[in-house]
Amino acid sequence: MGTCHAKDAKSVLQALDTARDKELNDLSSALTSLCRAHTVVLQWVPSHCNILGNEAADTLAKEGTTKDQNDRSTTFKEAKTTIKAKQHKKWLQQHPHYNKNDVFHLLTRSEEVLIFRLRTGHNRMNHHPFTKFRIGQSDQCPCQTGSTTTERLLQTCPLHDGLRSQIWAEATTVQGKLYGSLDDLQRTATFARRTGVSI
Ligand SMILES: [Zn+2]
Repeated sequence: MGTCHAKDAKSVLQALDTARDKELNDLSSALTSLCRAHTVVLQWVPSHCNILGNEAADTLAKEGTTKDQNDRSTTFKEAKTTIKAKQHKKWLQQHPHYNKNDVFHLLTRSEEVLIFRLRTGHNRMNHHPFTKFRIGQSDQCPCQTGSTTTERLLQTCPLHDGLRSQIWAEATTVQGKLYGSLDDLQRTATFARRTGVSI
C-alpha cells in the first residue's frame, strides 16, 4: 500500500469511491486480495485517540513516510506546466496592455520604432516637442491645417494625399493602420518613411 500513507486517509477513501485513479491501483488490488480472506471495512476516523489499532496504524504510517516514495502525485511535466502558467500570469500582470494578437513583434526593428512612435505620440513631429517641451515655433503641421499628430499625418494632411492613396487604395482607420495586421503595420511604416517627415 505504497501510496496510502502519503495521503489523508479520507481523501483515499473518497478517491476509491469515486475515481479510477491510476495511483490507487496498487491499493485497490491489495484490498481485493485482502477481501478474499477477510472482511474489510473502510472507515475514516478523524482522530486517533483511544481507539485500539489506530496507534499501531499511525506508527506504521509514520514509518512509511521515511521510506522511498516510488510514486509522486505530481509529475515533472505537471510541475513544469504549473510553474509556466504562474510565470505567464505574472508577466501579463506586469504588461497590462499586451495583446497576444499584436503582430508588432514581427516587424523589423526600424519599423517597430516608427509604429511605436506613431502609436504613443511620443515622436519628433512638432506637436509632441512643442506641447511637451515648448521646442520649435509651434505645433502646426507644415500644411497649416492643424497640429502634427499621428492622426493628421496618417489620415488628413494634404501634403501626403498622393502617397496615402498610393499605399492605401481604400480608406483605413487609424486603429487599423496602427494595430491591424502585419501588412497594415508594414504599410504604415512604409508610408511614414516615405513622407520624409521626421517621426
Ligand atoms: Zn499637414
